[in-house]
Amino acid sequence: MIKDLLPRQVVCTAPGKKGKPCHGGLKRYCPFAGYYNEPDKELREEIRQEFPEDPKLVLLKCETCQTVYRLPEELKRKFQQAV
Ligand SMILES: [Zn+2]
Repeated sequence: MIKDLLPRQVVCTAPGKKGKPCHGGLKRYCPFAGYYNEPDKELREEIRQEFPEDPKLVLLKCETCQTVYRLPEELKRKFQQAV
């Protein structure tokens, strides 16, 4: 599942167990970087359908439930400059 990151969002909001938000921490995530390929085939396919297969592509991923988040434009620029 790929969700949009909301402004000021810092934790995962996907519904977790018992219907409560997951609240897992979000980590920077490069699905196509050689050293950190997405191991889940279906998820990788989903990302590939939406994004160019760029090793520099940065998304966020929940450490708890593995939900993937698209970065808002502002954060995207920030992350790509930092690389
Ligand atoms: Zn989560």
